[in-house]
Amino acid sequence: MLHAEVNLCSLFKRGEAKLVATTTMPCTSCMQTLCAYGIKEIYFREIYKESDAPAIAKVYGIKLEQIPAPEEG
Ligand SMILES: [Zn+2]
Repeated sequence: MLHAEVNLCSLFKRGEAKLVATTTMPCTSCMQTLCAYGIKEIYFREIYKESDAPAIAKVYGIKLEQIPAPEEG
């Protein structure tokens, strides 16, 4: 699995970004990285069942919300 969120976080400084949108829910370690960078809102399309992201979001008070894929056609 490609950890795009870690690469993403190398693009901005801590506290600069508040919102992240990903295709798949961040995995546990990426979620921790995003938390460390001060992200407050995360939007994703697909649930990643092995991720502890929802529990981490609860602990840190981060908004973690699923955005359903748009209907085709
Ligand atoms: Zn990851």
